[in-house]
Amino acid sequence: MRNRLEALCRDGIAAVAEAQNADALQEVEVHLLGRNGALTAQLKGLGKLSAEERPAAGKLANEVKQALQKALEDRRAAIDKAELEEDLAGNGIDPTLPGSPMPVGGVHPVMAVARELEDLFSSMGYVVWDGPEIETEAHNFDDLNIPGDHPARESHDTIWMEDTPEDGRLCLRTHTSPVQVRALQKFGAPLRVVAPGRVFRQEAQDATHEHTFHQMEGLVVDKGIGVPHMLHAMNSMLEGIFGRKLETRLRPGFFPFVEPGFELDARCPFCKSGCKVCKGSTWIELMPGGLVHPNVLRAAGVDPEVYSGFAFGLGLSRMAMLRYGIHDIRWMMSGDLRFLEQFPA
Ligand SMILES: [Zn+2]
Repeated sequence: MRNRLEALCRDGIAAVAEAQNADALQEVEVHLLGRNGALTAQLKGLGKLSAEERPAAGKLANEVKQALQKALEDRRAAIDKAELEEDLAGNGIDPTLPGSPMPVGGVHPVMAVARELEDLFSSMGYVVWDGPEIETEAHNFDDLNIPGDHPARESHDTIWMEDTPEDGRLCLRTHTSPVQVRALQKFGAPLRVVAPGRVFRQEAQDATHEHTFHQMEGLVVDKGIGVPHMLHAMNSMLEGIFGRKLETRLRPGFFPFVEPGFELDARCPFCKSGCKVCKGSTWIELMPGGLVHPNVLRAAGVDPEVYSGFAFGLGLSRMAMLRYGIHDIRWMMSGDLRFLEQFPA
């Protein structure tokens, strides 16, 4: 029996090696290991052996089975590989060529500027924070010292939502400034935070006005904060965006949530003697800012006798337009691929 099993193994492996395709291999497998195959026939003979001979013969039969299975498996893999290569060559396909390019999206110019500024401010220890785009009237106006009779509350400036029983009057936030209060309520003082995001205005659209655009709010609250700290933060930011120092100036400006309030202008980065962008003045108005009004600190639960701070609001859309020389803000949210494809990833 031992000889017969050894012969079966030897002949079986030779037959497997000779099979030239999947069908032939299948036939060999059935012949060797099938229900009426050669090995099964041998196994049936085990019963006729004496009790002493049986264990060794059984063990050998098992080894033969495993060797044949292994040979079949290897041969099948080799045939599959050869068939695939033949297929590819027959169809004129070269599997070593690179694939066809997939269309990939790019980074929107506003997001590109936002990410750079987030990196810059993170490196100066600021938290990057966000607030909801549907905001309560209290957060958007009252907490920022904007009184009930302020014209910004009129429906021709603000997009109001339906009232809710829990939060009262809701609007689409008209600026990122509510995040000042939200961040202070969340983290307390001292705090450094920037808040980029979308804002909404009820606005007649033209080349410089859009109902949806992006801002970035900056806020620093600590002991002994003053105007020089604010100027340093604003100038660092401009240097980060334009890659060089720009000459800047402060003008007085009124915003209810700061006291004193300023407008920061920068020397036009595009000209020396006046151009379209600066409207011939060589200065461009870049961002409002000021020292945080005590009423705003109080609304956020911070004691204005202990802490002071500065805040500024940067038009991200406007900054991206300046950076990339875009002359109409309506392109920014247009979703027009002819525009977007000019800003590759
Ligand atoms: Zn200019």
